[in-house]
Amino acid sequence: MADSTGTVFDIVVLGGGSGGYATALRGAQLGLNVALIESGKLGGTCLHSGCIPTKALLHAAELADNARDGHHFGVSSELHGIDMAGVNAYKDSVVGGLYKGLQGLVKSRSVTLIEGRGRLVAADTVEVNGQLVQGRNVVLATGSYARSLPGLEIGGRIITSDQALELDHVPGSVVVLGGGVIGVEFASVWKSFGANVTIVEALPHLVPNEDESLSKALERAFRKRGIAFQVGVRFAGATQDDNGVHVSLESGETIDADLLLVAVGRGPSTNGLGYEEQGVTLDRGFVITNERLHTGVANIYAVGDIVPGLQLAHRGFQQGIFVAEEIAGLAPATINESGIPRVTYCDPEVASVGLTEVKAREVHGTDAIDMVEYNLGGNGKSKILGTTGFIKLVRVKNGPVVGVHMIGARVGELIGEGQLIVNWEAHPEDVAALVHAHPTQNEALGEAHLALAGKPLHAHS
Ligand SMILES: Cc1cc2nc3c(=O)[nH]c(=O)nc-3n(C[C@H](O)[C@H](O)[C@H](O)COP(=O)(O)OP(=O)(O)OC[C@H]3O[C@@H](n4cnc5c(N)ncnc54)[C@H](O)[C@@H]3O)c2cc1C
Repeated sequence: MADSTGTVFDIVVLGGGSGGYATALRGAQLGLNVALIESGKLGGTCLHSGCIPTKALLHAAELADNARDGHHFGVSSELHGIDMAGVNAYKDSVVGGLYKGLQGLVKSRSVTLIEGRGRLVAADTVEVNGQLVQGRNVVLATGSYARSLPGLEIGGRIITSDQALELDHVPGSVVVLGGGVIGVEFASVWKSFGANVTIVEALPHLVPNEDESLSKALERAFRKRGIAFQVGVRFAGATQDDNGVHVSLESGETIDADLLLVAVGRGPSTNGLGYEEQGVTLDRGFVITNERLHTGVANIYAVGDIVPGLQLAHRGFQQGIFVAEEIAGLAPATINESGIPRVTYCDPEVASVGLTEVKAREVHGTDAIDMVEYNLGGNGKSKILGTTGFIKLVRVKNGPVVGVHMIGARVGELIGEGQLIVNWEAHPEDVAALVHAHPTQNEALGEAHLALAGKPLHAHS
């Protein structure tokens, strides 16, 4: 028989990733007594095997490109090579520093951190290490894992993002299966590091969830960078031997490479955790909740990647904050999924918030939409950086901006303003009246809104 800790917590959080630790921190801030159960490392996927280490690799990749391209700017530099041990040490030091900070934060907020694998054994109880941890509220936040395809076993030269982040060498050649966010980010890193890269995507475009104009622009940019890709092509199988991995496509073609990265999406980590036994509804493993993230069972909530929708860390953070506030009785406003910003950090970056043009026409009516594309060629700072790309705005005629879509170097940093515009339902005329510093890339957002408001300055009318 398992022991009880004796304490009944206000919230028991199962899983200490972005969603879970945000719930715990906000709950504790609101004066609630919180237990946080984590079987791996506090910080979860994002900190240890997702957002942070991949962006460190992408930064190293940018430096490699800069060294290679110095002569374009009159700087004598050349790339002598990539020292993966050095790159990994840099990446690990970034992760390690943040991990330490997070551990300190959780401790300072007096959250009870329980290490071990938990299982829901009653609607208000999680069993961990033979101990029963009871809560007036339970928040499920067990996250996600890298999926594969039926018959495609991970091992050896066939890897997921988890192994890709631990590589001690730059592969000579890689096939990337999946042209979504994770696939294109690794493709971008490896190309910058000198590998031959081929992406295989079953859907008609790379980054297929984005506005089609961005997908097409990214495809042009990747073609220019020498990143090969095949879209609308289905994977048939893969074999591996001492010489490499041999990837066959349904078209009959075979591509040989040193490695195959399987980046076909992430599945919810919910199997065998007792959720269904307690009456929680699962759909293909995802936890179904209402818009207030309640599962419909007792006081059980769910946050993060196990809840269907965008699998992004900042969505998990916001959901965690929401649930803690809900439990504390603050009745927070629900989260608008389409108002969550999305950034793909490859080179060039892709960033968007709100509705694509197609979706906006579907929601508001085909004739009710206006849009503009502002080319970064007219933006001083982008010219200085040597980047190309554009900002596409989608508005309801005589109404607010409902979509901001961007491609180009560093546009991920512009999405902060984009998300304020969309979420505050600003009209282009409101934004056009605001002053943007010169020369910045933010100015391009200002210019795009000037254009949409009918008074373009540095663009042809
Ligand atoms: C390669 C890659 C790059 C990414 N890049 C970005 C990015 O740039 N920006 C972005 O916003 N998102 C990015 N993501 C997605 C982001 O990492 C996830 O959306 C986020 O981590 C989800 O948070 P979560 O709390 O739902 O789950 P997770 O972070 O997966 O955390 C779940 C935690 O629960 C623990 N756990 C699971 N089961 C149990 C159990 N039974 N008992 C105890 N503990 C348990 C796990 O150990 C884990 O720590 C990336 C993901 C990957 C894989």
